[in-house]
Amino acid sequence: MIMMKHLAQKLAELLGPIGWLSGADAAGYSRDWLNRYGEPPLGVARPTSTAEVAAVVAACHDAGVPLTPQGGNTGLCGAAMLGKPGGVILSLSRMTKIGRPDRAAENIEVEAGVVLAALHEALNAHGLIFPLHLGAEGSAQIGGLIGTNAGGNHALRYGMMQDLILGLEVVLPDGRVWNGLRAVQKDNSGYQLRRLFCGAEGTLGVVTRAVLKLYPAPRNRATALLTIPDVSSLLAFGKRLRADACEFISGMEFFCDFGLDMALRHVHGLSYPLQERAPWYLLVEMTAGSALVPLEQILEAALADGLESGEVLDGVVAVNDTQRATLWRLREEQPEGQRLEGTQLKHDVSVPPGRLAEFIEQASVLCGRVLPGVRVNPFGHLGDGNTHFNLTPPLGQSGFGELASEFAQRIGALAGSLGGSFAAEHGLGRSKVSLADALRSPEERSLMAAIKQAIDPGNLMNPGAVLHQ
Ligand SMILES: Cc1cc2nc3c(=O)[nH]c(=O)nc-3n(C[C@H](O)[C@H](O)[C@H](O)COP(=O)(O)OP(=O)(O)OC[C@H]3O[C@@H](n4cnc5c(N)ncnc54)[C@H](O)[C@@H]3O)c2cc1C
Repeated sequence: MIMMKHLAQKLAELLGPIGWLSGADAAGYSRDWLNRYGEPPLGVARPTSTAEVAAVVAACHDAGVPLTPQGGNTGLCGAAMLGKPGGVILSLSRMTKIGRPDRAAENIEVEAGVVLAALHEALNAHGLIFPLHLGAEGSAQIGGLIGTNAGGNHALRYGMMQDLILGLEVVLPDGRVWNGLRAVQKDNSGYQLRRLFCGAEGTLGVVTRAVLKLYPAPRNRATALLTIPDVSSLLAFGKRLRADACEFISGMEFFCDFGLDMALRHVHGLSYPLQERAPWYLLVEMTAGSALVPLEQILEAALADGLESGEVLDGVVAVNDTQRATLWRLREEQPEGQRLEGTQLKHDVSVPPGRLAEFIEQASVLCGRVLPGVRVNPFGHLGDGNTHFNLTPPLGQSGFGELASEFAQRIGALAGSLGGSFAAEHGLGRSKVSLADALRSPEERSLMAAIKQAIDPGNLMNPGAVLHQ
C-alpha cells in the first residue's frame, strides 16, 4: 500500500497534473468500449515523450505495480483494461506527433498516440496513403493498432498492421528502450522483433514510435454495393471478381440483412440505396493509380455477369465520393448497430476464404442447436475469410444465460477444424484467454509462455491479457 502511494506521488511529480490523473479524472479510461471490462486504476499516466514513458514503466517495474498500455480504447476484447484494481493505465493519447512523410521511400515516422484518421488526413496533401482502414479509425491509435495487429477492410490488398510496419521503438518492461526505428522492408537481422511486438496486446512492452509503410494515393476508385441471394453466390462472385481484377481489388466486405436492419434502425444518418432488400450484401472497392484503368467498366462488366449467372440480384455503383462514403457506412456501422441492439456475443474467426460458406452454414446450425431462435449476424472481410460471427439473443430474450463460453468454444473449434483460427484480427485480450487455453496446442502455449517469461519475467506488462496471469 505504501509502495503504491509512493508510486502515485512519484508519477504525479514526474508527469504533472495533466499527465497524471486519478480518482474521478481517471474514470474515462477505466471501462472498455463495450463496457464489459475494467478495474479502478491507481491512476492514468499520460506521458508526452519516450523518455517519460520509460520513466513511468521503470517506476512501475521498481514498485512491482502492473501497467496496461492504452490507445484509443476501441479494442473489442478488453485488452486495454486492467485485470485487477490498483494498476497503472498508461495512455499514449498525448504522443501525437506525425513526422514528415519520406516521399521517395514512401514511409513516415509517427508517435504511438496518433489517431488513425488523423494520419489519413495528414497524408492527404502528400499524395500518399496509409492503407489501413476500420470502423474505429476516428479513435483507434497507431500503438493500439500495433498492439492488436489490426486487420481492417483493406487487409486483402495491403496486409495487416504487421505488414505495414518498417520499424518500431518500444519501451521494455524494465524501462529500457529498444530503438528499432529502421525504415526498410527487408531486415533479416535476426528474429523478427518488430513482428513480435505487433499483436502482443501490450504484454511485452509499450510501443512509443513506429515507421510505417505508405503507398501512392489511388487517383481512380470504383465502389459498388451488390445484393446477393446466398453465401455460395457471395463466394462465387468474389472468385469471379478476383479472376477478372485481383490486382485492383482493395476491399470485399460482406454483411447480412439482419446486420443491415440493426444498423438502419439504430445508427443515425444511414441510407440504403437499392429498392429491394436481400439476404446478403457485398461491398466491393477497386482502386488504381492511373485514371486510365477502366475500373468502373470492369466492375460493371463483372456485375452484369453476376446478374446473368444469378450470383447477384441487384447493384449500385457509386458515382461520387459522397455516395461512396454512404455505401461504406452501411458496412462500417455493423458493429455499432449490433451494439445498440443490446446484449451480444462477438466471435472473430477466420477460415480459408473458399470454406466460408461451409463455416457460416455449419456455425448457424450449431448455434441454433445451442440456443433455438438465436439470431446470427455474420459480417466481415470476404477476401481473407475473416468473419465476425456475432450473436443476438432470440426475440423476446435479453441475454444468453450461461452459454457464452459454449458458443465461443464451438464456433472457435469449428473454424479450427476447417483450417482457420478462433481469433482473427481483434486479438485475445481478456475475453478469449480461456478460449485460447482450450483451443491452442500445448506447444503453442508453452512457446508463448516462454516468450512472455523472457521479456517480462515479473509479469507486470498487462498481466492477464493473451495469457493467464
Ligand atoms: C466500430 C469498430 C470497428 C472495428 N473494426 C475493426 C476491424 O475492422 N479490424 C480490426 O482489426 N479491428 C477492428 N476493431 C477493433 C479495434 O478498433 C482495433 O483492435 C484497434 O487496433 C484498437 O486500437 P486502439 O488504439 O483503440 O487500442 P486499445 O483498445 O486502446 O488497445 C488495444 C490493445 O493494444 C494495446 N496497446 C495500446 N497502445 C499500445 C502501445 N502504445 N504499445 C503497446 N500496446 C498498446 C493495449 O494494451 C491493448 O492490449 C473495431 C472496433 C470498433 C469499435
